[in-house]
Amino acid sequence: MGWKLDDLVERIKSLGDDPRVYDVRLSPYSRNRDFAQASLVGRLGSAYIHAKGFGNINYRGGPIALADPEPWYSFAKRDNDAGLPVILLCACWNLAECHRLVIANEIAKRYTIEIEHLTKKKTEKEEKKNQRTLF
Ligand SMILES: [Zn+2]
Repeated sequence: MGWKLDDLVERIKSLGDDPRVYDVRLSPYSRNRDFAQASLVGRLGSAYIHAKGFGNINYRGGPIALADPEPWYSFAKRDNDAGLPVILLCACWNLAECHRLVIANEIAKRYTIEIEHLTKKKTEKEEKKNQRTLF
């Protein structure tokens, strides 16, 4: 994550005409109202899907355990086969600790689908900051 909603929506729309955004949070609420379900549905319309089965039942702590992933693996494959870009959305900032990485790796392994991690593009300000540290 680390995205501003506007930037994220723009990035998602740049991926194709008909993306499928799988919200993989068990409970699609967020302290950041932009990423609450109602807001995402408002912005993404029918592209938004709450993939509850991909939710991590131990999201409050403990080992990652997916709620009911099997049907969702099939849906992801079906959408991908139909040429629709499938995006896994979670609010975790750290990809390495997020269950979406587990899901993405499993999808890649099962179906030999290539996975791209959508990292946030640096803003101009951040870019400048980086340049300054370079010199
Ligand atoms: Zn997560």
